[in-house]
Amino acid sequence: MIRFESVVKKYGDHVVLRDLDFTVAPGEFVTLIGPSGSGKTTILRLLMTLERIDAGRIYVGGECLTHVRRDGKWVPAGEKYLRQKRKRIGMVFQQFNLFPNMSVLRNLTEAPIRALGLSKGEAEARAVDLLELVGLGDKANAHPSTLSGGQQQRVAIARALAMRPEVLLLDEVTSALDPELVAGVLKLLKDIAATTDITFLCVTHEMQFARDVSDRVMMFDQGRVIEQAPPGELFTAPSHPRTREFLRAVV
Ligand code: ATP
Repeated sequence: MIRFESVVKKYGDHVVLRDLDFTVAPGEFVTLIGPSGSGKTTILRLLMTLERIDAGRIYVGGECLTHVRRDGKWVPAGEKYLRQKRKRIGMVFQQFNLFPNMSVLRNLTEAPIRALGLSKGEAEARAVDLLELVGLGDKANAHPSTLSGGQQQRVAIARALAMRPEVLLLDEVTSALDPELVAGVLKLLKDIAATTDITFLCVTHEMQFARDVSDRVMMFDQGRVIEQAPPGELFTAPSHPRTREFLRAVV
């Protein structure tokens, strides 16, 4: 579950998110679409606690991510609290961001050992299962630089899953891939979404993927959700003129 409550985010005088409210239910797959610069990536960065909000609150899994209660008041959470909460949130990036000097297996075991306290054996067993799941059971000892972009992105997905996240954030995960590798990565994500209870929040320009996999699509413009609906509805009969204009330009 993710909830944004009256969230404001500014960079200097530039207001990127204005009183933003939305909820993603447990296990739901929500895709954010909208023009460049409308604030989609900022939402993911706030959930990764890479940025601080200027007002409002963000909740993940029913608990506040951004603030703690002290003497009956909400105060911004400290770094230690944020580090704890961050463990429940996984992210897969456009550029894979694998650790280049570690084997594929170690890419998957490093965070579960360090952040979750798993033993090496437990972390490796989990990693081997996940590599099988993403179709790379034979690549455990390979180094990321020897893999194709599609394979690297599969490793990145397995690495995120190794932390057993409650929420998985996807930021343009196919943008850096050769076109022939896109479908395989999207199918993998679709299968994971269908077989786990992870809550997904996805930013993509792949409208066909958004249509195939999402439970709900949120159209974003100038820091606000201007329309949201199941994909069958939003893509076939958008109600907001701005959504119609955007879809005409990208589909
Ligand atoms: P795109 O589809 O191009 O990735 P987006 O909808 O994800 O765009 P964001 O990356 O969230 O948009 O950016 C929203 C706005 O915030 C933009 O105007 C951007 O220039 C601004 N912005 C983002 N990060 C920073 C920063 N670190 N400092 C100043 N302005 C920023």
